[in-house]
Amino acid sequence: MSIHVQVPLPVVGLSGFDINLTEEEKGIQEVLHRFARDVMRPLGREIDSMPAEAAYLPGSPFWIFHAEMMKLGLGPEAMAGMSSAEAARMEGIIIEELAWGDAGLAVSTGAGGLPLEMARASGNQELIDLCEGKLGCWCATQPDRGSDGLILYPEERHPGSRGNKGNLQATFRGDEIIINGQTSAWVSNGPVAQVALVDVVADYGSGFYDENGNTYGCNVIVPLDIQGVSRGKPLEKLGKRSLPQGEIYFDNVRVPARFAVATRDDYDLKHAYAWAQAGTAMSHIASGLARAAFELALAYIHERKQGGTVLASHQLTQYRIGGIGTKVEAIRAMARHVANYTKCSPRPHPYFTASGKAFTCSEMFIVVNESLQLFGGNGLTREYPIEKLMRDARAMQIEDGENSILQMHYGHLLSCLYQQEGWGNA
Ligand SMILES: Cc1cc2nc3c(=O)[nH]c(=O)nc-3n(C[C@H](O)[C@H](O)[C@H](O)COP(=O)(O)OP(=O)(O)OC[C@H]3O[C@@H](n4cnc5c(N)ncnc54)[C@H](O)[C@@H]3O)c2cc1C
Repeated sequence: MSIHVQVPLPVVGLSGFDINLTEEEKGIQEVLHRFARDVMRPLGREIDSMPAEAAYLPGSPFWIFHAEMMKLGLGPEAMAGMSSAEAARMEGIIIEELAWGDAGLAVSTGAGGLPLEMARASGNQELIDLCEGKLGCWCATQPDRGSDGLILYPEERHPGSRGNKGNLQATFRGDEIIINGQTSAWVSNGPVAQVALVDVVADYGSGFYDENGNTYGCNVIVPLDIQGVSRGKPLEKLGKRSLPQGEIYFDNVRVPARFAVATRDDYDLKHAYAWAQAGTAMSHIASGLARAAFELALAYIHERKQGGTVLASHQLTQYRIGGIGTKVEAIRAMARHVANYTKCSPRPHPYFTASGKAFTCSEMFIVVNESLQLFGGNGLTREYPIEKLMRDARAMQIEDGENSILQMHYGHLLSCLYQQEGWGNA
């Protein structure tokens, strides 16, 4: 006698094979999912189709989004009382849903809050008041200083070369900081931000370089409505069009020295902290974008008929959807792992965080590309949302550090651990 037992379908959640979410986590995930679906997706698509010069004007869908986002009340209070591990996980759940809605708007939200986050970390109430309720940006790259801004150790530079001073510098004089130069055109929220976290090289009275050719640096909070600040035009670009980007010019901009949140002695660590924060957010964004593309493909293969039946019934399609479905789970697992390590380790490192950003973004790109491929020719048309996701995904291979450069830095870190601590050689 044989007994046939049917294996029941597994338990899955909104975001996939994700069990053990607390009731609070599930509640926030569901609220944000509805917001992402009903508010972010339509607004993101609308902004995407507009010329950049009109897309971010007062009253535009971009500002409607931010007004709606504010109503959600997702400030640091949302994490109050949580352990670092719980906060890391909750942040991941939140950012993944926002990116599922629209990756560009998710970045605008994250970059928008960075000055306030650094002000809060400094404990300076004047700076907190200055940043609260305002849209922020992070000025870290310049026309001549892109990947070079991410080098943390002198031995990573070409032998004999000095650190790259770039096109934007801060000079500390008495109780003032004087800022001159310009950012790159890539500053997220640059054309519209009200406050900036300016992350630049600095002269504290003895020039920009130490005796080993390393630049000194600083992080300064700068309100962007003060004399000497002007903007470039919003950038016309391939992807992430819902995210305004453009240059900010500084012409003898003067702020009190107390607006600095990192100076000569603690700059390296705080720069590393800010960059690692950005890297964890980018990894969660990769997770949300990958899932969005995968879900569109999953729906499409159940509608489109070729070879006498829907695509989903062909073994070849099952193999392909299985491949990208696995990657979606792996991307989320890596994003949460990197976030957990970065928030909970007694000594995190931005090169490890960056390796997570590079991994999640490059795997995400494979998912989005294969999802579009499953749409056939339809995937290339504006009629279907997948082509926008492809353009957004492309930008993320360069954003917050070009992927190969990030992987190279991680390789350097692994060598340092091996050589200096014998790690991997036990
Ligand atoms: C969507 C998006 C959002 C962004 N947001 C912000 C923001 O909010 N704030 C901000 O300040 N910046 C922002 N950026 C800028 C971003 O950080 C830079 O574009 C990125 O770091 C790469 O710098 P780059 O574009 O100057 O390229 P480059 O550094 O000029 O690199 C060009 C190529 O050269 C290679 N390369 C560079 N250095 C080396 C080397 N030492 N050895 C071998 N190869 C090398 C790179 O791998 C790359 O392929 C954003 C960019 C994008 C696309």
